[in-house]
Amino acid sequence: MSRPTNVPLAPRLPAGLATPALLRQLAAIAEKYDGSIKISGNTILILGLNPENRAQALAELGGNSQSLSAKAVRGVAVCAGKPHCPRAVQDSTALGLALDNKFYGTELPGKLRMGVSGCPNCCAESFVKDIGLYGVAHGYTLVVGGNSGRQAQPGRIVAQKIPPEAVLPCVNKILDYYRTYGHAGERLGQTVSRLGFEDFAAYIGVD
Ligand code: SF4
Repeated sequence: MSRPTNVPLAPRLPAGLATPALLRQLAAIAEKYDGSIKISGNTILILGLNPENRAQALAELGGNSQSLSAKAVRGVAVCAGKPHCPRAVQDSTALGLALDNKFYGTELPGKLRMGVSGCPNCCAESFVKDIGLYGVAHGYTLVVGGNSGRQAQPGRIVAQKIPPEAVLPCVNKILDYYRTYGHAGERLGQTVSRLGFEDFAAYIGVD
């Protein structure tokens, strides 16, 4: 007889921000239902809950759980950034939250990860995200097409010195492109490689 699959519970934490109260609640839920907690990448997982307990725990969290398999925009990874990191030159948290609020869950041909870093150190791994950004003195550098999965590849710099207020419209165009031309299961970088970087750059309106 096959054992039931215990699907991890992955509370959604926009821009990786969590209050102490929420962390206490997650710990209490893991303890109550005999689960464990694991931090994997930028995600907190509650592991080991049987289906019935998982359903109860999810209800206690008000339905707050993200999919770990959706072909959609995933939670945006964001570095520590301003005002906590002395190296920050742009407010990565403000931008990451704005991106997360606008685009999280948008359905696409494949999964799409974003990473926003406040400086070129790229602590949010901007070069291995489908859409990566890092802060420089006069805005953000935009990197597209990276991933760290089965066919890992670094992204390519698409535009530089983008003002923060111009980032969301630009990301919107990139998602439009991917939705229009991407094949099912294909990552954004594969779509860009298949159709040509120049056509992609022209579609989103950068030189
Ligand atoms: S990317 Fe830069 S600003 Fe962000 S945490 Fe790393 S060093 Fe600090």
